[in-house]
Amino acid sequence: MANQQAALLGAFAKFFPNATTIGSFVNGELVVDTGDSSIDIVNPATGQTVLAYRDAGAAVVAQAAEAAQAAQKTWWALTHAARGRVMQAVGAKIRENAEALAQLESIGAGKPIRDCRGEVAKVAEMFEYYAGWTDKFFGDVIPVPSTHLNYTRREAMGVVLQITPWNAPVFTCGWQLAPAIAMGNGVLLKPSELTPASSLVVAALAEQAGVPRGLINVLAGYGHTTGQAAISHPVVKKVVFVGSPATGSKIATAAAQRLLPSVLELGGKSANIVFDDADLKRACLGAQAAIFSSAGQSCVAGSRLLVQRGVYDQMIDMLARGAEKIRVGEPMDDTTEVGPICNRTQYQHVMNMIDAGVEGGARLAAGSQQRSDGGFFVRPTVLADANNAMGVARTEIFGPVVVAIPFDTEEEALAIANDSEFGLAGAVWTQDVARAHRVASQVNAGTFWINGYKTINVASPFGGYGHSGYGRSSGVEALYEYTQTKSVWVETAANPATPFGYVEA
Ligand code: NAD
Repeated sequence: MANQQAALLGAFAKFFPNATTIGSFVNGELVVDTGDSSIDIVNPATGQTVLAYRDAGAAVVAQAAEAAQAAQKTWWALTHAARGRVMQAVGAKIRENAEALAQLESIGAGKPIRDCRGEVAKVAEMFEYYAGWTDKFFGDVIPVPSTHLNYTRREAMGVVLQITPWNAPVFTCGWQLAPAIAMGNGVLLKPSELTPASSLVVAALAEQAGVPRGLINVLAGYGHTTGQAAISHPVVKKVVFVGSPATGSKIATAAAQRLLPSVLELGGKSANIVFDDADLKRACLGAQAAIFSSAGQSCVAGSRLLVQRGVYDQMIDMLARGAEKIRVGEPMDDTTEVGPICNRTQYQHVMNMIDAGVEGGARLAAGSQQRSDGGFFVRPTVLADANNAMGVARTEIFGPVVVAIPFDTEEEALAIANDSEFGLAGAVWTQDVARAHRVASQVNAGTFWINGYKTINVASPFGGYGHSGYGRSSGVEALYEYTQTKSVWVETAANPATPFGYVEA
């Protein structure tokens, strides 16, 4: 426990010297002595509590809201190009501190260090990408049928609230922060209470790079206390939520009560469809990346593997043998490919789902029902010979567990793929070009891959259909979410006809 605490605090203190624990980042300061309850950070590799910190609470939310509102006015008053230069500097600052930030993420969230390095690089890329947009996203001149000049302005929302989950904390933080500040907004960011450290650091680095003090505030705390206090705060003008459908529904309801617009980026149960003409080796590698990378704690995970019957046995055999070779281990070990599940509740859910799958008639082709001692490790698991009516094929497991289902025809594959309340992602593996595009157009999902899986980029829009959410992140589409449009009318006629009213000559 003492060693683990020292490791986390040591990694954190590289950015916040003298910090005795984690806290919230408000108006440029780390505040630790806050709300009523205490929150434990648990190391998922050992199951032991590493550190406790205070829930931010309503008073800290109010301070953060005031700071964000004031800083947003300064930020919005800058030229668009000046905002872009600061955004570029944030990207550079993250690159400069990349290794230390990746280590903090690995220790603080229990993610394999090699994944953390990749995600931190993507965060830098997000700020750089949106730096380029600051002076390239603007309104239009509308050819109205009158003597008016009519133009539109894209204006900041003001202060936006972002609520994020534990599975990819630093990635999600950059993903939502970059477009929000590029468009001139102030931010209250509430990361998962389980993994706040890296978001605090991104906010501090952004200020070092030139973002005004108080523009980005990170509220470390519980959802039902700190998160709810933030949704209720009158300064907040929009809520962007990344997390589970159950919480998303509560948040959208609370936002709607205040008539606040919201974006929901929720879960998935994505279908990865393999036809019998596919390059099976590539499809097998793709299927492993789709579900086992990040220990399956990925919203777009290819958690339902649909395989055409002619190649089904061969594919499952290849997949199961591959799964057994994957290196599961300590997050900070460079050779680890799959780390632990992030927290105890989620670990128990994943193990219970494996049990339920086997009890429901699925065959455990790879993996184990054995609970691990101490840490929350789950071996890559293949539940074969399943059908789409089983609970494991309908519920998001959010662990390294793939449910394999055989099919005979394209129509059947599409029917199974679309028989889900989710619609986040999907993929098809085939060498038939016409079939590939046909299937891509018919699967209900916000992201779809042909002969690949899991490629995403900040330049390309991302979001869900159905219970996977609404609104879009990434690309130009995120800029619409973080702005509101004003239409301005200018009379240009010397003596315009007056449509209504009387004045003395
Ligand atoms: P979660 O819904 O439990 O929590 C997400 C966030 O909501 C946390 O910050 C939490 O503190 C906060 N929260 C909880 N209750 C709240 C309340 N009543 N009011 C305000 N805030 C509240 O999700 P999780 O378990 O942290 O993350 C896993 C889920 O996130 C999975 O379903 C996964 O698919 C989803 N996810 C989606 C995407 C996407 O882009 N679609 C990306 C990553 C994760």
